[in-house]
Amino acid sequence: MTSVLSVNPGARPAPAFLDGAPKQLLIGGTWRTAASGDTFDTLDPTTGGVLSRVASAGQADVDAAVAAARRAFEDPSWANITPYQRSRILLQVADVMEANAEELAVLDSLDMGGPLWMTRWLVNHSVEVIRHYAGWPTKFYGQTAPSDSDAFHYTLRQPLGVVGAITAWNGPVLQVAWKLGPALATGNTMVIKPAAWSPLSTLRIGELLGETDLPPGVVNIVTGDGAVTGEALTNHPGVNKISFTGSLGVGKRILEVSSKDLKRVTLELGGKSPTIVFADADLAAAAKGAVAGFAQGSGEGCVAGTRIFVHESVREHFRELLIEEMKAYALGDPFHPDTRMGPLVSDQHFERVSSYLDVARAEGGNLTTVGETRDRYMPPTLVENVGRDARVVREEIFGPVAALMTFTDTADAIAQGNDTDFGLAASVWTTNLETAHRVARGLQAGTIWINTYAEMSAGTMPFGGFKQSGIGREHGTDVLDAYTEVKSVMIRF
Ligand code: NAD
Repeated sequence: MTSVLSVNPGARPAPAFLDGAPKQLLIGGTWRTAASGDTFDTLDPTTGGVLSRVASAGQADVDAAVAAARRAFEDPSWANITPYQRSRILLQVADVMEANAEELAVLDSLDMGGPLWMTRWLVNHSVEVIRHYAGWPTKFYGQTAPSDSDAFHYTLRQPLGVVGAITAWNGPVLQVAWKLGPALATGNTMVIKPAAWSPLSTLRIGELLGETDLPPGVVNIVTGDGAVTGEALTNHPGVNKISFTGSLGVGKRILEVSSKDLKRVTLELGGKSPTIVFADADLAAAAKGAVAGFAQGSGEGCVAGTRIFVHESVREHFRELLIEEMKAYALGDPFHPDTRMGPLVSDQHFERVSSYLDVARAEGGNLTTVGETRDRYMPPTLVENVGRDARVVREEIFGPVAALMTFTDTADAIAQGNDTDFGLAASVWTTNLETAHRVARGLQAGTIWINTYAEMSAGTMPFGGFKQSGIGREHGTDVLDAYTEVKSVMIRF
């Protein structure tokens, strides 16, 4: 059985950034307390202890941050630089993040409980993502259009202005990098609002930006509660776009508030992704992928594969492989090298995930939990014998819980895979090329993985959701369109 490795944590890393001083807001290149003086505590989910006090931004602070971003947007030091200079600045951002990668990973592991091997990977990925976007300012073209010989028609791609970037708590550095790279590559300025449960690495990135040639005010950071700070940003008439990563409920609220002045909105929301395993698949590899799909990162991932469909002919064998693989998911201190799963992010979230296990039992589900549930630690759980309308099959749990179900043929696999309000991702396990392509085409999801799970491109592949998993895409060329307006210019000679 999986054991709790070291729930009583040993020595905690002590980054110099956590010097006991309350963390402040970054506005116009200077750090300042909230106008109200209010703060909140960010906690270490491993110990339950306070990591730092953090400024809680209100309306006046958001007003100041948006005004600073607007000034920076119009200032020649940012508006009029060459594509090469913009590119160079983004390379500096990547370099300074890379030079401090270990500290950023440690801050995320302390703040949201993810194992260090995972947060290291996420930070390294984020550096690659920024380097990817550093290449775009010199390669992002408008078009010339056909016209008669007495005219010249062409398009310009221009930045939107001030971007409000609102992020979730589960992958703080990554989510900031995914927004900061394309927003700055296309010449926008930003006000970033990280999640209140894990704001530290974003604030440290704010400090690191001060070591680059990025002009003051191009990136501002306001911390605080979503309903206050986030809402003030979304509601602000000086913000041109909201790029949001978070839950479906808040995504809907952001759309509603943004409709007031028709802000541009990109929504990266949740999922209930299917893992579909055909009888001809490498079942051992599929079991590894399926368990990683819902247990990696304690299931606190938007692409978590929480509905597992296996062909009915191999169900029993595949189930055994799944349970065996779940035993490899050791719970423990995020800084212990053998830890596969850290604690869930907070008591509140632990209660939420636990309540779904009660719901699953009440719905008649058979639950197999491999490991010990204690404090904020939650081992992987497989739920069987639940129908397609069960809440554990339909709702995003955001913890290490998956439902195991069967299918009969390819059409049934596609139909069941699509029987969800969400459409963020899916993984398909088969050795039959035709099956792979047919299912990839038939599934309504933004990313389809074949014989793999959760592979992330460093910017090259579009990422985002069908249906209620979101609106718009990050990465690819789509994201550049999402951070710019196209302008048609028609000249008559
Ligand atoms: P959340 O929606 O509760 O919060 C996300 C952010 O929105 C936080 O910064 C929060 O403070 C802010 N916020 C809350 N209320 C707000 C309001 N009224 N106005 C403006 N901002 C507000 O989500 P969470 O619990 O932090 O994160 C988990 C969710 O994020 C899951 O649903 C997960 O699937 C999703 N997620 C999606 C992706 C993706 O790329 N699709 C990636 C990671 C997480």
